[in-house]
Amino acid sequence: MGLVVQKYGGSSVADAASIRRVARRIAETKEAGHDVTVIVSAMGDTTDELNDLAHKVSPNPPGREMDMLLTAGERISMALLAMAIHDLGHEARSYTGSQAGLITDSAHGRARIIDITPGRIQSAIADGAIPIVAGFQGVSHDSKDVTTLGRGGSDTTAVALAVALKAEVCEIYTDVDGIFTADPRAVGRAHKVDTISYDEMLELAAVGAKVLHLRCVEFARRFGMPIHVRSTFSNATGTWVVADPTEGGTMEQPIISGVAADLNDAKITIVSVKDEPGVAAAIFRALAKAGVNIDMIVQNVSAQATGRTDVTFTCPTADMARALQALFDARDEIDFETLTSDEDIAKVSLVGAGMRSNPGVSATFFSALSDAGVNIEMISTSEIRISVVTSAAAAPEALRAVHTAFGLDADGEAVVYAGTGR
Ligand code: ADP
Ligand code: ASP
Ligand code: MG
Repeated sequence: MGLVVQKYGGSSVADAASIRRVARRIAETKEAGHDVTVIVSAMGDTTDELNDLAHKVSPNPPGREMDMLLTAGERISMALLAMAIHDLGHEARSYTGSQAGLITDSAHGRARIIDITPGRIQSAIADGAIPIVAGFQGVSHDSKDVTTLGRGGSDTTAVALAVALKAEVCEIYTDVDGIFTADPRAVGRAHKVDTISYDEMLELAAVGAKVLHLRCVEFARRFGMPIHVRSTFSNATGTWVVADPTEGGTMEQPIISGVAADLNDAKITIVSVKDEPGVAAAIFRALAKAGVNIDMIVQNVSAQATGRTDVTFTCPTADMARALQALFDARDEIDFETLTSDEDIAKVSLVGAGMRSNPGVSATFFSALSDAGVNIEMISTSEIRISVVTSAAAAPEALRAVHTAFGLDADGEAVVYAGTGR
């Protein structure tokens, strides 16, 4: 039988008993005749705790040292898991990202994988051992420093290694039964979906469904690696993420695959700019130079009397201060009256491939929000997604209202097995 890559998230290895349970699951896979390679996250909320600790020590820690610190979390869990597997009579060998051949660029905190040279992992497998690889980390090809792939990046380590090792499947073990129509912590009536396409999962991950790291889905789509998201705490089948969920069956996919909210964006309005060619270019050039990631953009119709208008955009809250500074620095060139900003916003999104061919989706979406008394500040759409900006306070109600309006509510409450949702 072929190779299975399994990734266990933080809540799956939160304490000694959990680590022993995961070890048994890995041993069972091996005993069923598969080769297994495991990717592991840091225990519980370790990464958040290390992050908090660093900021108590230093207000602005250097990226290199942050990565050195945070990667320690995964080193702890990988060694403990290898010990637990040994006790079950199998040989397990733990490897850091660097030892496993995860070569990245040198962007600390958000490094991208540029090559994978998994020679040591392949030798371990050939020896009949079970490699345990630390997730979310690699080594820079030029500086040789340790890097991290960004929060939630162990999923990406897992899919990348699954591709490099030509695994049959990449299994992502977590604290819920699979991918749901909404975050079950936010919408109790969310229901699990059996399959979802890479395209829909990409949209969901991009708009805040943190069950899978966005880049792991990009990787899986590019190389056609099937992902099976499932619970560590039950043996139930989870959700398969594949290219075409309708393949082989006669069933049509549902119109809507899910809803999600993202609370990590801020909104900036540039008040009263001239409505003439070159203004938007000047604004977004200044923001690009400051490395600000822009999401939604809205420009109003200009007032006839003044020929001036407002431009509003959203960006990650973490980039907000930098964005405001960059705009102030370019004030002479852009020529605006003032800037306003708001951190207390949410982006609420509806995703579904069936939107393409079903008229009326927007009407149902906006009616649901209006019936729930939710005020909409901005709107953006893609072929298979509608997103609106609301106040952060309105987001939970907006999610529930839209979920209900599209008939996605399950009969019972979704199970969340563990984790703090942090
Ligand atoms: P892990 O530590 O295993 O990587 P994460 O906390 O990163 O786990 O991801 C699992 C969590 O993702 C779930 O506990 C759930 O609260 C959240 N989540 C958000 N959106 C969804 C969704 N659509 N389906 C399932 N879980 C979701
Ligand atoms: N431990 C890292 C984090 O919490 C990576 C991961 O779990 O995917 O972000
Ligand atoms: Mg995760």
